Amino acid sequence: MTLDRYAVIGNPISHSRSPAIHAEFARQTGEQLSYEALLAPLDGFRDAVERFRRAGGRGMNVTVPFKLEAFALVERCSPRARAAGAVNTLAFGPDGIFGDNTDGAGLLRDLVHNLDRPLEGQRILLLGAGGAARGGLLPLLAERPASLTLANRSVAKAHALAAAFRSHAPDVALDACGFIDLTGRAFDVVINATAASLANEAPQLPPGLYAANALAYDMMYGRGDTPFLAAARNDGVTQRADGLGMLVEQAAESFLLWRGVRPDTAAVLAALRRQLAGE
Ligand code: NDP
Repeated sequence: MTLDRYAVIGNPISHSRSPAIHAEFARQTGEQLSYEALLAPLDGFRDAVERFRRAGGRGMNVTVPFKLEAFALVERCSPRARAAGAVNTLAFGPDGIFGDNTDGAGLLRDLVHNLDRPLEGQRILLLGAGGAARGGLLPLLAERPASLTLANRSVAKAHALAAAFRSHAPDVALDACGFIDLTGRAFDVVINATAASLANEAPQLPPGLYAANALAYDMMYGRGDTPFLAAARNDGVTQRADGLGMLVEQAAESFLLWRGVRPDTAAVLAALRRQLAGE
C-alpha cells in the first residue's frame, strides 16, 4: 500500500519535532501516512513545494522562514491565515493549494490547558509583533478578553498590527505601546511572542506587570526556563508555561485539516517533554 505523503519544510529543519509528532498522531489514530522533514534552499521554497506536490505529496507544514512565502503561494486560504498574512499548513487538492494557519489555534488550546479559568474577561498582554503574534491575535480576540495590549520593541509595528486587527473585534479594548509604556499596568495573561528567548534574552519589561494568579507564557520551547519565564518566577508568578504544548496543538490542528480526525495531544506532549528532558 502507498502511504499518503506529508512533510514539514523549512530552513533549518533538522531540529524539527514535527516528524516525530505526526508519526505518533498517525500511530494513535491508525491513519496510513508518512511524514518527512524537507530542507528547502532559502531561494527555493516554491520549487521544493511544487516538486513534493508533483511527487504525490498531500500536504505540508511550513516553518521558519517560509510562512509569508507560503501565504503568497496558496490559491485559497482560511480566514485565520488571511488575517495572519502567514500560512503554516498546506493542503494539496484537485482544486489547487489551500493554506491555513494553525499556530493561533494551537496557542489558544494550550493556553486553555494551562489556565485555570476562561480567557474571556482577562487582561492579556501580547509581547511581539512578528509572525507568531500575528497568528495569535485573531483567536485571542475571539475569546473576548477584557483587553488585549500589544507591546513591541519597535513600537510602530505594534501600532500597525493593532490598527489592522481592531475591526475584527470592535468590542475588545485593543491597544498598542512600547515596553516602557507598560509601567504601572497589570495583566492576567502575559504571552511572550518575541524572538528574544532564541537569543537567550528577555524583553525589557518594567516590574509589577503580573496581576495575582497571572499566567506567564513563552512561545519558545525546548530551552527549559527561558529568561522571560525565569523573570516571571522571580516576580512570584506560579503559573508559567513554555510553547511546547502550542507546538503539539498546532500540529494536531494541521492533522485534523488533512485527515479529518483530531489526535489526542496529551500523551504526545508528555512523551516529547520526557524526550527533551533527557537530551
Ligand atoms: P519574528 O522574527 O517574526 O518576530 C520577532 C519579534 O520578536 C519582533 O516583534 C521583534 O521585535 C521581537 N524581538 C526579537 N528580539 C527581541 C529582543 N531581544 N527583545 C525584545 N523583542 C525582540 O519571529 P516569530 O514571530 O516567528 O517567532 C517568535 C517566537 O515564537 C520565537 O521564539 C519562536 O520560536 C516562537 N514560536 C513558537 C511556536 C510554537 O509552536 N511554540 C510557533 C511559532 C513561533 P522588533 O519588531 O522590534 O524587531
